Amino acid sequence: MLPTIRLYDEDSHLYSFSAEIISCEKAENAYMVILDRTAFFPEGGGQPADTGYIGNARVSDVQIKDGIITHYTDIPLVAGEKAECTLDSEKRFRRMQNHSGEHIVSGLIHKIFGFNNVGFHMGSEDVTIDIDGVLTRQDLDRIEAEANRIVYENVSVRAEYPDSDTLQGLEYRSKLELTENVRIVTVEGCDVCACCAPHVNRTGEIGIIKLLDFISYKGGVRIHMLCGRDALEDYHKRYMSIAEISAGLSAKQSQVTEAVERVKNELAAEKQAAVQLKKQIIELKIALLKPCEGNMVIFEADMDMLNLRLLVNRAVEMCTGVCAAFSGDDEKGYNYIIAGKNIPLKERSREINSALNGRGGGKDDMIQGSVKASEQDIRRYFQDFS
Ligand SMILES: [Zn+2]
Repeated sequence: MLPTIRLYDEDSHLYSFSAEIISCEKAENAYMVILDRTAFFPEGGGQPADTGYIGNARVSDVQIKDGIITHYTDIPLVAGEKAECTLDSEKRFRRMQNHSGEHIVSGLIHKIFGFNNVGFHMGSEDVTIDIDGVLTRQDLDRIEAEANRIVYENVSVRAEYPDSDTLQGLEYRSKLELTENVRIVTVEGCDVCACCAPHVNRTGEIGIIKLLDFISYKGGVRIHMLCGRDALEDYHKRYMSIAEISAGLSAKQSQVTEAVERVKNELAAEKQAAVQLKKQIIELKIALLKPCEGNMVIFEADMDMLNLRLLVNRAVEMCTGVCAAFSGDDEKGYNYIIAGKNIPLKERSREINSALNGRGGGKDDMIQGSVKASEQDIRRYFQDFS
């Protein structure tokens, strides 16, 4: 079979075309369709496959092997017939914006810092590039400013297959061992790189290049970036989010960082005050404890384990049986601490937990855990507990 004619090589902005169906075979969950020519870019070089239609058949994936491009469709097509084909052009254009932007950024990093792009991935969220050297935020800010200057200059982006003599003398990134049939993509005055993917015709089409976060990765850095329409949408989302935060904090958008700091400090002060108040409440509760014969059962709506223990430690001195303290409510259940001097609680914990649908344990003089039982049932249980 002849290699498929790659229309995207010649014209990256060709989104609809007609082609002859060479073959159609049933695969596991799809039909494999081969055309005589195609504008569908097959997955490769970090860029996902194009999607779209061949006639009425939906194309969900495109792969290339030995020069033959296979389209995966949802319904069969008839070999020998002609078909009108359309790409999901918006998706493809965004990918070209991102991919051409990536070449500019990787090219500049190579030119200025001498590092290489060793990994490129176009995900659903953003684009990542892995660089084999360490870069700082300042370095990336510089690259971003320079990359956008190349966008403003609206220089040409060319894709061509140089003859082997020209290729041998050519300095380019992603150098291949091949001596011919190497597709070279040149961003005028900025970058020369081997690449099989479609690109924008001029850098102005990229619109904007935005470097987002970066992390240390395999001795270098992984950079997250977005270009063009994806970057604009990302800006819109971030803008709406900051507008909401600014309204929530009653602060100007330019002052939300200070406002968040203020709220954090206020919250810390309130937490400190709450700790003091809880301490005072516990002291008052302890002062109000009355000596009793038998077991003492205490219920608190919302007391942390630390304060519950303070309360139990004092209360157990004032009763002859056990002191069982519970914090929570009937719906969510209760956390408990049970203390007593004359009953081996560690041994009895299994029995208590099984009676009150709970879990927990501890030592002979104190156990703790949680139960799923009602206040009424718990009180009834401890009436006869000995
Ligand atoms: Zn590329």
